[in-house]
Amino acid sequence: MNHRPEPAPDWRELAVCREVDDNTFFPSPGDVTGINYAKTICAGCPVQRACLVDALREEGGRAKSNRFGVRGGKSAGQRYAMYTAHRRRQQRAAA
Ligand code: SF4
Repeated sequence: MNHRPEPAPDWRELAVCREVDDNTFFPSPGDVTGINYAKTICAGCPVQRACLVDALREEGGRAKSNRFGVRGGKSAGQRYAMYTAHRRRQQRAAA
């Protein structure tokens, strides 16, 4: 008899945005109302943290202008700020 455990579901399978039009998460950069609306959807998402971690990992050191959409409840600008703050902490720790 095979007792192999079931694989854990990928967090994307639990994403609330699977049921929402993709365009909702890609408002124009200056569209504050659209950005905030997407964030409210993310706020109710059970995998927000995993989504944000994945976005930050995938975007790496990209410039702000090369980050797109709301992911993990954060705008492109917020994710860039998180990246730069993390990089500064690493540089201070290495000094
Ligand atoms: S946090 Fe937002 S963008 Fe990420 S999976 Fe959830 S709803 Fe989608």
